[in-house]
Amino acid sequence: EALDKGLEKTKEGFLSKITKAVVGKSTIDDEVLDNLEEVLVMSDVGVTTTLKIVDRIQKRAARDKYVGTDDLNRLLKEEIQDLLAENNSNDFETFEYGSHKPYVIMVVGVNGVGKTTTIGKLAHQLKEAGNKVVLGAADTFRAAAVDQIQLWGERVGVRVVAQPMGSDPASVAYDTVKSAVANGDDVAIIDTAGRLHNKVGLMNELTKIKNVMQKVVPDAPHEILLVLDASTGQNAIEQATQFTQATDVNALALTKLDGTAKGGVAIGISDQFKIPVKYIGVGEKIGDLQLFNKKDFVESLFK
Ligand code: GDP
Repeated sequence: EALDKGLEKTKEGFLSKITKAVVGKSTIDDEVLDNLEEVLVMSDVGVTTTLKIVDRIQKRAARDKYVGTDDLNRLLKEEIQDLLAENNSNDFETFEYGSHKPYVIMVVGVNGVGKTTTIGKLAHQLKEAGNKVVLGAADTFRAAAVDQIQLWGERVGVRVVAQPMGSDPASVAYDTVKSAVANGDDVAIIDTAGRLHNKVGLMNELTKIKNVMQKVVPDAPHEILLVLDASTGQNAIEQATQFTQATDVNALALTKLDGTAKGGVAIGISDQFKIPVKYIGVGEKIGDLQLFNKKDFVESLFK
């Protein structure tokens, strides 16, 4: 239900436009397909993925003689689900962290996308689910970033490892993982600086952070989580391109889905980068973070 509410804006755009695309039509013809293409591009699904979807629907419609809105909706649902990378976790209680203890999450993304908020919300959810969580304030370039992580730590009631602004981020990451091991924590979440001014610089910095963590936990980080603001549409795709070139991103968090009609970006990104959307932000409150479930997401879009 929270998901339905979070996706309200995307849904309004999506469904009403799709309905318009087929109204009064008895078959899925070229005009319907053109309209559908427009709707998908407007919802920020992205051109490549849109063309893929339209092409598949055209072929299936020709073969199976689909007619009318219901059929189109059903076909679209199936095709979209097909394009979303697999991720079927439903709630944080049963969320699988495997045998890793501590499970180390390195969080990357540019400033303003909701990185700090996502870390705070995630810490909250994981703590509520019974985990011992520690946060590492390794974005040492902005004083505000360290302060914000500390505020979230107090708010959620989890430990924060921090050093003064300007300290070596790798050193903070090292301290955090070490402290997590010593304290028997289940999850360590490490913030990093979101500077994208220089790709080589970013790559070197993230590599250095990874390397020092591995001195303590050899297979850390288990999750490299890229946070993207869904409302920025194609910018989010550009950031995904940059960050996936700089480091081995293996999970995505899409924030601000509540404030945007561009929820389709989840479909495009998942298809283009083959990285699962793992978390979605659907509001500013502490509880407004959900594990992404592609079936629920698609069902909710078409409700
Ligand atoms: P950072 O610079 O990436 O760390 O960004 P912040 O975490 O400080 O977030 C920037 C702004 O986005 C803040 O005002 C947050 O409350 C807001 N924000 C973050 N996530 C969401 C979300 O899922 N929905 C909405 N509506 N706002 C969000």
